[in-house]
Amino acid sequence: MSAPKKMTKSHYYAVEEFFWKRLTDSADPDIRRLRQIGKEICGVASTERRLAAHLGGGDKAFKLLSNEIPARTRFQIPSMRVLERTLPAFHAEAQKYPADFFRALNLGSCHLVSGLNIEGSFGAAAGYASQDDASVSSITVSLTGDPHASLSKQLQAAKRAFHHELSHAVHFAFRIEGGNSLQRRWWEPFEKRSARTDADGKTETFARSYGRTNDAEDVATVAESLFDSTMSRLLRARGAREPLLQKKIQAVERMYYALSDGKMDATFWKDLQRGTTIDEKYWASRAASAKDPGGESYRLELKRHRSYFDVLRRVDALQFDEQRDEKAINLYFEAMKKLPADDPDLREYARLAARRINTYDKDRLDEKIALYERLLSLAPKSFWFVYNRLAGYYADRGRAGDKALARKTYERGIKALPQEKTLFERLIKRLSE
Ligand SMILES: [Zn+2]
Repeated sequence: MSAPKKMTKSHYYAVEEFFWKRLTDSADPDIRRLRQIGKEICGVASTERRLAAHLGGGDKAFKLLSNEIPARTRFQIPSMRVLERTLPAFHAEAQKYPADFFRALNLGSCHLVSGLNIEGSFGAAAGYASQDDASVSSITVSLTGDPHASLSKQLQAAKRAFHHELSHAVHFAFRIEGGNSLQRRWWEPFEKRSARTDADGKTETFARSYGRTNDAEDVATVAESLFDSTMSRLLRARGAREPLLQKKIQAVERMYYALSDGKMDATFWKDLQRGTTIDEKYWASRAASAKDPGGESYRLELKRHRSYFDVLRRVDALQFDEQRDEKAINLYFEAMKKLPADDPDLREYARLAARRINTYDKDRLDEKIALYERLLSLAPKSFWFVYNRLAGYYADRGRAGDKALARKTYERGIKALPQEKTLFERLIKRLSE
C-alpha cells in the first residue's frame, strides 16, 4: 500500500480535529500555513478571495481575517467545516451591496470568528464594529452564534449580524466629532428622545427592542431587518401603520442609496424583498436604472459633503499636542482649500480645526499663529472666537508690533463677520486698556 500523493479534504479534517488546540493558537506561522493549505483543499480560499475583493471595494489593504484573534475578544477560529458551510452564504449576503457601496465605506477589515465573546459587560455577542483613529472601521461577525441553535438558525443570526455590523460602519463613515449638519439631518428620525424612551414602554417605533439602546443601534436594527425578506416584509407592514418607524426605514434606505451612488434604489429594495438573487450579474443589469427622487437628494448631498468628511478625518487624525505632523497639517489645509467658502458647514469644520490647533504646542506661539492665519485665510467666515484667539496669541507673544497685529485681527473679524461688529469693537477697546 502506498501513501496518497495529495492531501484530501478528509485528511485535512483529521489534522484539524487532532491538532485543534494548536490550530487556535493562530500566531504560529506554520499553523497558519497549514490552515491556508486546508482552505485551498476545501475550496474555502477562493470564496474568501472573492469575498475579500468585494468587501474591500477593490482596496488591496483590506483584510478578511478568519485565522486571527481580534483584540478584546475570546472566541474560536472557525473550523474548516464551518467556513465551508457558511462562507458561500455569507458571500451571497455581501453581494447584496454593490461594489460602489464598499468603495465608499472605508472598511479596513472583517473578522470571521466562531462563538464570539466580548470582554467586559457584553458577554456572548453576534458581532461588533469598531473604528480606529484614522476613521477606518472594522467589523467582527460570529459565523456560528448560539451553539445550541440549529445550523440554519445560526447562519440566519450570522447574516443578520453581518448587516447589523456593516450598518455601524455606515454610521462611522459619518460620525464626526461634534456632528455635522448632514449627519444631523440624516439621523434626525433616530435622535428623537421621546421616541427612544417610548413613555409607555412599547416598541412600536423600533425594529426590535434592542434599537432603543441608542441611535446607532436604532439604525442598525432597522438596517439588518431590511436585508432579510421576511423581516423586511413585517417591518414595512408595521411602518405603514407607524409614521416614525416609516421615516426611519426611509432614512436608512436613503443612506444606502447615497453610499451606493444610487444603485440601492427603490427597485433594488423591492427586488430584494421579492427574493430576487442579488449578485454581480444583478448589479451589472441594474447599472442604468431610473433614479429614486428621495434618495437622489441624499446622494447629491453626500457628494457635496465628501470633501468635508475628508477634511474632518484629517483633523481627527492630527495629534497637535504630541508631535507636529507637518504632512498631516499640509494635507489638512490642502483639503480645506477645496471647500466652498460660503458654505455654512465650513464654519463648523473650521471651529473644530481651531480647537485642535489650540491644543498644539502650548508655548510655541509662532507656530500656532501661523496655523491660525492659514485657517482664517481659508475660512474667513469662521466663528468670532477664532479671530479672538488669534488676537490673543499676538497679544501673548508681546513682541513689538504684536498689539497692532492683534488689533488688525479684530478689524479683519469685523470685515468678515459684520454682524459681530459690536463684540469686536468691545474686544479692541479691551486691548488698549
Ligand atoms: Zn449594534
